[in-house]
Amino acid sequence: MQGPADVAVVGAGMVGLATAWYLNERGVRVTVYERDHVAAGSSWGNAGWLTPGIATPLPEPAVLRYGLKALLSPSSPVYVPPSADPRLLRFLTGFARHSTAKHWARAMRALIPLNDQALGAFDELTAGGVDAVTRPADAFLAAYRTEAERRVLLEELELIHRSGQDIAFDLLTGEEARGIAPSLSPAVGAAIRLRGQRFIDPGSFVHALGDAVRKQGVELHEGTNVMDIRPEGDGVVVVGNGRPVHHDRVVLATGAWLGSFGRRFGIRLVVQAGRGYSFSVPIETVPEGPVYFPAQRVACTPLGERLRVAGMMEFRKPEAPLDQRRIQAIVDAARPLLTGVDLDSRQDEWVGSRPVTRDGLPLIGRTHAPGVYAAGGHGMWGITLGPITGRLLADAIVEGRDVPELAPFRPTR
Ligand SMILES: Cc1cc2nc3c(=O)[nH]c(=O)nc-3n(C[C@H](O)[C@H](O)[C@H](O)COP(=O)(O)OP(=O)(O)OC[C@H]3O[C@@H](n4cnc5c(N)ncnc54)[C@H](O)[C@@H]3O)c2cc1C
Repeated sequence: MQGPADVAVVGAGMVGLATAWYLNERGVRVTVYERDHVAAGSSWGNAGWLTPGIATPLPEPAVLRYGLKALLSPSSPVYVPPSADPRLLRFLTGFARHSTAKHWARAMRALIPLNDQALGAFDELTAGGVDAVTRPADAFLAAYRTEAERRVLLEELELIHRSGQDIAFDLLTGEEARGIAPSLSPAVGAAIRLRGQRFIDPGSFVHALGDAVRKQGVELHEGTNVMDIRPEGDGVVVVGNGRPVHHDRVVLATGAWLGSFGRRFGIRLVVQAGRGYSFSVPIETVPEGPVYFPAQRVACTPLGERLRVAGMMEFRKPEAPLDQRRIQAIVDAARPLLTGVDLDSRQDEWVGSRPVTRDGLPLIGRTHAPGVYAAGGHGMWGITLGPITGRLLADAIVEGRDVPELAPFRPTR
């Protein structure tokens, strides 16, 4: 069967650009529409972990405990506004319903085929002309005050293993962890060293991906807000900045904004912004790999000579302004656990929206409207899973077939 000759992608984040890259590789003419600029959404200031070994569904029994704590403490790593609107309440109720061990295990099994292929897709991009590096993170540390705190992740690693995915790790004392990452303070009493993962500077990587697709001949229109999409004849009409353009197919890769067009094409699941914050700080000894404080939900990633510190899950509208209190909450949580880090010399303070779904699974595939596809809703893992999403979706579009790995992610489920 003849595939489409001409596909539009809306959104120039990791997911949209990776989809554009793979479509172009498969001989399709591609146009990307981005209302702002490349990596303007959550693909810029995130932690940049390529960690398929721990890419698990967000709704899990432990998250419920955080949710409850959030209602009691303004400095908690999860923030739910007291006056939640009906849409947010619908999302939270659905999220709570999916935070059971049974749902988690089912969602985990769905993610494993993507996780297995995630790093390979990055290698394809860098071998195929994306001028950026993925760095091995053999010194990836999850650090804790006590061995008791560490048990939570150990139990999760055991559950991941039982679901059929494996990640190698070592248990370390605080002293051993400081031997690897001297910036850990004496308050760290136990750690886990995760093996086989990687990390990137996500902003640089996504910009390099944007440059690569442009070089391949993809038309990338920044500053083009897509205001309407209409199925028409065999294809679709995309209305960007008032100018309608016909394409054979369109992929909605609009991150936390996926819901705004999605609903009319049969996407009933709310894509909720789970806003996270980050900033970078100077550090005396840059760690070789990311450092994670799971109990505080704070993620640190070496970026050049600085350390990016990221955290928080704030359920608010993606357009809401940056809230300094959330930055302060991350600083307060990280300060006792780090040493030789100047948390008060912050640069690049940033807020971005994880596109979160209530069942913890992304939306990838065709919608109810012929010619309209969705790719998004990866929550915590859109960087890790962006390239493999692009590859599998490009196969589905070009070959006009159902790709088995994508079956659990049907956007209209
Ligand atoms: C603090 C934090 C840390 C994170 N850490 C990690 C991590 O370590 N590893 C990981 O895998 N993931 C991580 N994530 C998650 C990851 O950042 C996201 O899942 C991922 O960036 C989503 O990519 P996307 O392309 O779907 O969305 P986005 O990057 O948000 O891109 C969507 C784009 O669509 C554009 N757009 C929207 N509407 C329109 C329109 N109408 N017309 C035209 N353009 C439009 C937007 O401007 C935007 O550029 C983190 C997130 C946060 C917030």
